[in-house]
Amino acid sequence: ERVLERTAAGWTAAADGLMKIKQRFTIYNVIMLLTPIILMGVISVCFLIIFVLKYPVEELQISRAALIDPHVFSQAVGDFFQKNPGAFQPIFLWLGLCLTVMILTTTLVTMRMSRSITKPIAKLTKAAENIRMGDLDFEVLGSRYEEIDILCNEFDSMRKSLRDARKTEEQLRRERNMLLANLSHDLRTPVTSIKGYIDGIRDGVADSPEKLEKYLDTIYSKAVVIEDMVRNLSTFSKLELSKLQFRFVYGELNSFLREFVEEYRLDLEKHDMVLETAFCETPVQVKIDYEQMGRVFANLIENAIKYKKEGTGRLSVATYAGDGGIYAQIADDGIGMKKEELKKVFEGFYRVDTARTMNIKGSGLGLGIARQIVEKHGGKIWLQSAGEHMGTKAIIYLPAVRQGEIQQ
Ligand code: ATP
Ligand code: MG
Repeated sequence: ERVLERTAAGWTAAADGLMKIKQRFTIYNVIMLLTPIILMGVISVCFLIIFVLKYPVEELQISRAALIDPHVFSQAVGDFFQKNPGAFQPIFLWLGLCLTVMILTTTLVTMRMSRSITKPIAKLTKAAENIRMGDLDFEVLGSRYEEIDILCNEFDSMRKSLRDARKTEEQLRRERNMLLANLSHDLRTPVTSIKGYIDGIRDGVADSPEKLEKYLDTIYSKAVVIEDMVRNLSTFSKLELSKLQFRFVYGELNSFLREFVEEYRLDLEKHDMVLETAFCETPVQVKIDYEQMGRVFANLIENAIKYKKEGTGRLSVATYAGDGGIYAQIADDGIGMKKEELKKVFEGFYRVDTARTMNIKGSGLGLGIARQIVEKHGGKIWLQSAGEHMGTKAIIYLPAVRQGEIQQ
């Protein structure tokens, strides 16, 4: 099978005009051998005809005996040249021509042969130099030699992956800069307002106990925003550095979620949101860190509250068993998001523009943290939304485990 494969590869390569170095060199050798032989043969025949025409054979006086006896033959030839000293000239000319033809063909074929190798190598050297100088936008073309062609192709794919890596790196750098800009903006806003309120108190604007109370409340809430942001930031970086300790236990997501969302019922009502639940009956055992998983669901529910539309909202929480695990679904009918945002919101600090412009507080870290926590549980989390103003659905999948399988 392998031989067949190799032969097939050889045929396709030959169809592309590709040949192995050994094959092509054999051809060059044959050319180098045959061309001078043929040319010298033609020259010799021409010279023989001219010679015979100029010096008729009879003059040689070669008898049958001379042909048989080399001594007599050389005697006859010697006599002939003594009689016709001019006959040396065409013979030297013939010899000279044959020599020239031989040297010329060998030199030309050798030059062609070495050029066919040195040219692609020079191109590769130039390409390597380009890469060293940081230029990655060129193409390394192939060669007629299969081996060098493979090398050129490999080189070109290396260049392409380098170029892609550089693009990703640039994109990451841009994103990181944007994140830093966003973060500093998000931190600066509450700090500025805290400073403003403190100035107000100092300047005596808060001249009544009620006003002072209101100012202090605002300062406190802004400080809480900063605290939340910094706490999220610390969790996020701990997760990124795998420094957050998990305490996994063998547990049940269904009953945990049932209790967890009940605690939010009042809060949801306060925010004019109706809670709907549908939990599956089959108990599915999973490995779970309740505190961390609680963080994930808290962020999803808080997001549904934060990003709701005007009027009464709806939050539905459901679970169902399937695919060797359990799915938990948190769906709202809020402001939704565009398709292209669905994955980006899982990146740290990323917030959809509408959320920013609507001046809803948040660090853009909740979903990033959620994804890392869910993945540490061996699960998956993703978002679905039919578009802006069409609500958002977050789905979490956790695989079922047996009690013995839990490791910290
Ligand atoms: P944090 O959770 O850190 O306080 P945040 O809520 O802005 O801040 P994430 O929870 O990571 O951060 O969400 C990222 C962004 O995704 C949000 O800023 C918002 O733009 C968008 N988003 C998240 N959940 C929803 C939702 N249910 N409906 C509409 N947009 C959402
Ligand atoms: Mg959030």
